[in-house]
Amino acid sequence: MSHQYPERERKRALEYYYENREKVLAQQKAKYHSDAEFRARSIEGAKRRHASKMHSDPEYRERMRQRALTLKATYGDAQSSSAKERRRLNKRKWRQANRGRDKSKIFDALGRKCSCCGESHMAFLTVDHTNGDGAEHKRKLGSRSGLGMYRDIVRQGIPKDRFRILCMNCNWATRTGKECPHQAAK
Ligand SMILES: [Zn+2]
Ligand SMILES: [Zn+2]
Repeated sequence: MSHQYPERERKRALEYYYENREKVLAQQKAKYHSDAEFRARSIEGAKRRHASKMHSDPEYRERMRQRALTLKATYGDAQSSSAKERRRLNKRKWRQANRGRDKSKIFDALGRKCSCCGESHMAFLTVDHTNGDGAEHKRKLGSRSGLGMYRDIVRQGIPKDRFRILCMNCNWATRTGKECPHQAAK
């Protein structure tokens, strides 16, 4: 490796590297993926450099400590798990973020209060299928129900003739297509 080269050769190699950085990195990346021996050597080298720096470089040690904390905050106890597992968790986070965004889009479009009684506490509110076809909608979406529901309503353009905001009480009272007692009392 580089420390085996005489000084002059080493300098020339470094110069070449800085002038053709992108190309060299792409070549190394390709080699890393296709050449198992090169890959093993690379990993060995990285491990050795990491161990030696952890031992001798307090700044590096601190940086690694911070990185471990960030990973733990992001992935919880799964931080030490496989890349595949981390991707799965990342995907879930992404879906959850989308879900929140879709939900607030729907409430912005349909109003943040019950369209029957005016209840406005978010904790009591739900998106109601005006035609009572919520169960069918859910079935069509299959296993993506819940997560997929908000996404799908946004995709449909949040049509006001199909969806409305109701509180849990009014939603429950009208679940079989009956008129809400609030309306009957008027
Ligand atoms: Zn209500
Ligand atoms: Zn009502």
